[in-house]
Amino acid sequence: MTDTIASNAAAFDVRPNPSPTPEADRTAALADLKFGTQFTDHMARMQWRKDEGWGDRRVEAYGPLQLDPAAAVLHYAQEIFEGLKAYRWEDGSVHLFRPEANAARFNKSAHRLALPELAVEDFIGSIEALVTADEAWVPGTEESSLYLRPYMFASEAFLGVRPAHVIDYLLIASPVGPYFPGGVKPVSIWVAQGFHRAGPGGTGDAKCGGNYAASLLPQQQAAAHGCQQVLFLDAREGRFLEELGGMNVFVVRRDGTIETPRLTGTILEGITRFSVIQQLEDDGRKVVEKDITLAEVRDGVESGDIAEVFACGTAAVVTPVGRLASPEFDLTINDGVAGEVTMGIRQRLTDIQYGRDEDTYGWMRRIA
Ligand SMILES: *Cc1c(COP(=O)(O)O)cnc(C)c1O
Repeated sequence: MTDTIASNAAAFDVRPNPSPTPEADRTAALADLKFGTQFTDHMARMQWRKDEGWGDRRVEAYGPLQLDPAAAVLHYAQEIFEGLKAYRWEDGSVHLFRPEANAARFNKSAHRLALPELAVEDFIGSIEALVTADEAWVPGTEESSLYLRPYMFASEAFLGVRPAHVIDYLLIASPVGPYFPGGVKPVSIWVAQGFHRAGPGGTGDAKCGGNYAASLLPQQQAAAHGCQQVLFLDAREGRFLEELGGMNVFVVRRDGTIETPRLTGTILEGITRFSVIQQLEDDGRKVVEKDITLAEVRDGVESGDIAEVFACGTAAVVTPVGRLASPEFDLTINDGVAGEVTMGIRQRLTDIQYGRDEDTYGWMRRIA
């Protein structure tokens, strides 16, 4: 398969950072990677104005923004974002994983938040322009990558409640190491009590900062119970699994059948989720998208009918779940170790992302 979507990278005016990070400091930073703390020398940006559309495409020095205190985003949270990674292959080339899918989802989120759509060519173009300028920041060590964060927000200084007339798009990049340094370890999950991430007709299937703001308190409660992640149930009945704060969830039955909550509008449509489903089906496995109750998961884990539970998303790829807890129960899944199906699908996906296996899907796009 070949890439059909053109990139608008050439339209970005590149103004090199006059004082980039010295090479020795960059090398030191790349040798000690943490998630989301270190940023590259540049950022890409564009601005949208009502009646004019998108313009002012630039790559410039990474640095603080000037924002009017009345900027609408600070008051009404009109903001969306995306998250994807650039992977360095063994031959030195740099590739993106399904960026058109992120571009499409960005526009879907934009629509829900009454933000302007952005051409796929601009979305991919901004990434290509930034990664080209900051290519030295793409780490090459195992399971590391350059995490890319595109986002747009209402920058117009106006306190009235309506969609803003001035919108800023920015793209920043952060080199990241393996999510699990020292090997994949199963995570513990706490079932959110009395809080929901999203409701019918809300913004659950949009990738917006507001959803994350609402997830922080339940996440804090999960941590207080010794859990790293929180599982949200549906807001209507409080019985069905939806997703974690930022990852989709899967259940593996003992007979090999795999289940995941069906998309109801309150679940974020993960690109990792779609990719995992496709690969599992191509491997001859049965994947069922359906309503899954917490009660059946509890029973299944207790009886051994559910062999594995895993979560997935761009940041952690595929993560085994070793423990599921709530005030009523505390269950160990698969003896608290990473399961075979979970680790198998993780390997399959990362092999394609890092170019260790042939990309028969046409998912990867070379950008440097
Ligand atoms: C981003 C996100 C995911 C995972 O999506 P991917 O495209 O797989 O990274 C899942 N849930 C929520 C709430 C998210 O914001």
